[in-house]
Amino acid sequence: MLQQYYLKKGNRPMTSRNKPIFSIIPIGGLGQIGSNMTLISGMTESLIVDCGILFPNEDSYGINYLIPDLDILEQSSPSSLIITHGHEDHIGAIYHIIKKFPNIKVLASPFSSKLIERKFKSQKISVKIHPIRPREEIIFSDFSVTPVQTNHSIPETFGLFFKSKLQSFCSLLISDFKFDDKNPYESPMDLNYIKNISQNFSKRLLLADSTNIKSKNEKTPSEGDLITTFESLFSQNYKRIFVTLFPSNIFRQKTVIQTAKKFNKKVIPYGRSVENYLETAIDLKMIEDESGIIKSVKSINSKDDNLVIIISGCQGDFKGALRRVASGEDPYFKIQEGDLFVFSSTPIPGNEKKISQIMNKIYESGGEAITNSDCLVHASGHPGKEDLKILYDAFNPTDIIPIHGESHLLNAHKDFINELFPDIKAHVIYNFNSLLIDNNLEITTINDPPKPPLFIHGKEVLLEKDCLKQRRKLASSGCLFISIKIESLGKKRANLKLEFFGLPQLIQDKEDEIKWLINNYFAKTKIKLFEKSKEELKIEIRRFCNKLLGYKPIVFIHFI
Ligand SMILES: [Zn+2]
Repeated sequence: MLQQYYLKKGNRPMTSRNKPIFSIIPIGGLGQIGSNMTLISGMTESLIVDCGILFPNEDSYGINYLIPDLDILEQSSPSSLIITHGHEDHIGAIYHIIKKFPNIKVLASPFSSKLIERKFKSQKISVKIHPIRPREEIIFSDFSVTPVQTNHSIPETFGLFFKSKLQSFCSLLISDFKFDDKNPYESPMDLNYIKNISQNFSKRLLLADSTNIKSKNEKTPSEGDLITTFESLFSQNYKRIFVTLFPSNIFRQKTVIQTAKKFNKKVIPYGRSVENYLETAIDLKMIEDESGIIKSVKSINSKDDNLVIIISGCQGDFKGALRRVASGEDPYFKIQEGDLFVFSSTPIPGNEKKISQIMNKIYESGGEAITNSDCLVHASGHPGKEDLKILYDAFNPTDIIPIHGESHLLNAHKDFINELFPDIKAHVIYNFNSLLIDNNLEITTINDPPKPPLFIHGKEVLLEKDCLKQRRKLASSGCLFISIKIESLGKKRANLKLEFFGLPQLIQDKEDEIKWLINNYFAKTKIKLFEKSKEELKIEIRRFCNKLLGYKPIVFIHFI
């Protein structure tokens, strides 16, 4: 399978001395933040690691998310999908993978499985998920995969250790991680295992996270470091405390719940995503003491000073509970003087403006806001340079592929390796490139051009690129619909109906002039060539509008 692929790419035929034994093709996540997905192939079997979505820009006209073009996966017919952790940029596109490969075997940790099952429930599909656990090897035809315990901002995040049957080559894929030995809720990254497993292989390829390579924090703070800050904030004389966070960070939710209990405060999860993630954690018995959690906002006096509200919408989401509360539109929580809002999160690039709008509204209503620039209320889930060094020291790679990051971050990661670890070879590749390892343990890269992502809207429906272009035009220029009754053509005045959509009053007041323009056109033109007339009229009407407005609206003409 791998040989055919290699030849298809126009490479010289292989001899027995030079046969690819392993390949890595990133489908998403390299050169962008999101849609993490990698196709890994041995000589006879392929599997997919993660299947994430990319969140859309603000100007994406209602689409829910983007996914990579999955057609490239067809030639490999992957047998399995392995999930490293349950973040949306790693599991969000699972519906589309299942649709393409209904028989694919899905493997995930218990927590990730629960999150995927929730998704399947709303998508009305049912697929059995096979549980995976750290240090439990999964055997494939000519290689094996072993999950490795790591730390991140969501429970049960795994690295994946690939071992070729040839015994001389191994690879460790650690997409999102940090080294956290002070997290009170999970054990630190399994460095001992990583050290031991890599020893027996002469070629050791590491794929590692580039997200924070430019961060000022050389060592990413621990989840445990935040406890002191929360204790200090909860001990002060604020009224209600709203904490907004990435809802999947169950560790953070636990810190808030436990600190609230310590200061005799009640916790109320508020907003769909906070409630859903917390419920999943409770189902899996990850929250030991639920006694301080109020499950229904209706059962409390929402003005009670003793409340800590864990609230959804930390990225300023338009439908988020935080925005609703900040803008005074929430039915239960109105901001009062003395309320504190803790932003226990960081803006995902692009969301800064939305978040600062919310902060302004909080202050205008008498509240106060605290972010990570005021005190340590957020710890990233990604590695600083020190975390990367810890991983490199443990795995001792011969080669590294920087992953999980925009192009400038992948290249900064490469520079970091070249500078501090000159013996390690760094390979910067992008989505849809291939990296092949042959039986002589030589590495070849094939730089196929990337394919543009696909837009998904509504009930997981693909929206073709042209449709998005049309939406952009409709949204930016407005629209004029004109119906012309065929039987009325040739009479003194044609029977016309005009409808304006998203156009200013100025042009709507010119309805009679537009009608005159159409009648005048038909007075001079043969009336049988409808398609030609349509085009000519469109040009004339758009030109007329442009003179008045300075832009040309979309014009639809229908002969009925
Ligand atoms: Zn993640």
